[in-house]
Amino acid sequence: MSAMLEVRDLEVAYGKIVAVKKISFSVEQGQVVSLIGTNGAGKTTTLRTISGLLRPVSGEILFQGERIDHVAAHDIVARGLAHSPEGRRIFPRLSVEENLLLGAFARKDPAGVRTDLDAAYDLFPILGERRKQPAGTFSGGEQQMLAMGRAMMSRPKLLMLDEPSMGLSPIMMKRIMSTVSELQSQGTTILLVEQNAQAALKRADFGYVLEVGQIVLSGTGRDLLVNDEVRKAYLGED
Ligand code: ATP
Repeated sequence: MSAMLEVRDLEVAYGKIVAVKKISFSVEQGQVVSLIGTNGAGKTTTLRTISGLLRPVSGEILFQGERIDHVAAHDIVARGLAHSPEGRRIFPRLSVEENLLLGAFARKDPAGVRTDLDAAYDLFPILGERRKQPAGTFSGGEQQMLAMGRAMMSRPKLLMLDEPSMGLSPIMMKRIMSTVSELQSQGTTILLVEQNAQAALKRADFGYVLEVGQIVLSGTGRDLLVNDEVRKAYLGED
């Protein structure tokens, strides 16, 4: 069986700055795969390229066996690949519900959208309680819930999360990370980008370590958590 997402020799540049240097990795159906690395490693660039927001210099991206590296971003969403971006990018003046519905913009099944709105409120009850409230009044953690809920509104097969734990309290971070496991158990495949290696690897079936645009290590989440290099560089241990 081929992987749900396969990235082959992907190179991405901003002018002369090569941010991603021929990386290859894959995500199997049903897995949580974590991509970890420090600031500037190329994690966001990788996700934005998979989403069709940036174009690669070279390499291939296959989603469900088909090339998507030259497919328009909205078509990529429609095929079942959603992206919850770094910094959340919610619309502060719009209500919670309006923000969620933007995640369903490509869908033409109002009944299904309604069902998924209810599913988002089940996943994060606070969103339901405050559905009419402007999203800008929410805390960072609540905005992260909203960003994830919005991404789920396209009913994705693969959900990409860019640093969902950023800036969150430990309790809120736990809540977000347990949602990752919940979504996995509901059948969503997840590609999780994180600087917080501990949180990301604990949940991961498989992980990749990105350093200055290259994958330097890979393995099961469990193996990487006990790996000496990972412990020293990412978990702050001597
Ligand atoms: P962070 O966690 O800080 O977002 P990251 O691993 O996601 O880090 P990227 O944001 O993908 O890293 O950045 C990778 C490299 O590309 C960095 O050297 C960064 O300075 C550079 N870069 C990112 N965006 C641009 C841009 N728009 N123009 C030029 N260089 C950029």
